[in-house]
Amino acid sequence: MTGELKDQLVRRIRAEGPITLADYMGTCLLHPQHGYYATRDPFGQSGDFITAPEISQMFGELVGLALAQSWLEQGSPAPFTLAEVGPGRGTLMADILRATKGVVGFHEAAQVYLVEASETLQGIQAMTLEGANVQWASDVNALPDAPLWLVANEFFDALPIRQFQRADTGWCERLVTVGNEGQFGFGLAQETAFADLENRLDDTKQGDVVETCSVATAITHSIGERIEAHGGCALYVDYGDWHSLGDTFQAVQAHQTCDPFEAPGQADLTAHVDFEALALATPCAYSRVTPQGVFLERLGIVQRAQTLAQNLSGETLENHISAFRRLTHPDEMGTLFKVMALYPHGAKPPPGVGV
Ligand code: SAH
Repeated sequence: MTGELKDQLVRRIRAEGPITLADYMGTCLLHPQHGYYATRDPFGQSGDFITAPEISQMFGELVGLALAQSWLEQGSPAPFTLAEVGPGRGTLMADILRATKGVVGFHEAAQVYLVEASETLQGIQAMTLEGANVQWASDVNALPDAPLWLVANEFFDALPIRQFQRADTGWCERLVTVGNEGQFGFGLAQETAFADLENRLDDTKQGDVVETCSVATAITHSIGERIEAHGGCALYVDYGDWHSLGDTFQAVQAHQTCDPFEAPGQADLTAHVDFEALALATPCAYSRVTPQGVFLERLGIVQRAQTLAQNLSGETLENHISAFRRLTHPDEMGTLFKVMALYPHGAKPPPGVGV
């Protein structure tokens, strides 16, 4: 298996010419036979990386309660869609459902949808959520035209980006090429004007690299349309910032960064999320980006951590304390990860975010 995807990509580029970074990234992650997400469960201590819901149940509990409070504040519409995009192992949705059991009417009104591209991960999600009434959709466009409460954790960073290098008044796209030895590298396409990058001419100089993610803007547009038309809220949690600049494309394997061109399909490929681009693509209102640590503290993670700690001792207590630190501390995920909420114009934003 190893090397098969690399051979396919090399043959394709030699036959058809350089490909966009989005094409490379999308193929490496989601190729149906050899793609990264199609061939493994990458999460957890023994996998390649660990995400917030896998670190501690507190993350999903607090996100669930924030969504439920927003649902109550918008008049408890029924039925409504409770959705997660890119649910990984299904842990976050399991914690959301457990934490919201006591919210009167919430479960009865919720139609739970998981938007997941990988069949392998759909299978794992079905096991994690056994007994819950859950449906899968391959795409956000397939979600019902109904009020929508949605969460996306480390989803947008996995979507394929394109990179452009600033030229004089236009842009040269960075394309993936193949050298004589069969190794991948970057080449520059000819300078062109790109309408989508007009707004980046002011804050960049020659040689700067900017990234775009058209899949992400299309997805967030579709989510925002439902929220504006029918009510609801979306919480996006990811690493990145309001405005992205520079090359943020990276590969991670076994918790270490590695060369993204080394072993296609074997390493997780991500890029920082440009929250401004997501916000501007939606017709609904959006919050400021709030650091994950601040968001969780506003939602009461300190009190929740203390309550859980009462029943723990020894190693489990130490693990719990270190999980709390990982989620909130500025040296860990507390500052690097940001939260942005989408909500309808005229409605209250969900708790935890700044406006
Ligand atoms: N939210 C999870 C997993 C994040 S990893 C967690 O926090 O643990 C990214 C997830 O998005 C994986 O489940 C991956 O299979 C899924 N994914 C990637 N690209 C996708 C796409 N285009 N459509 C739907 N799901 C996608």
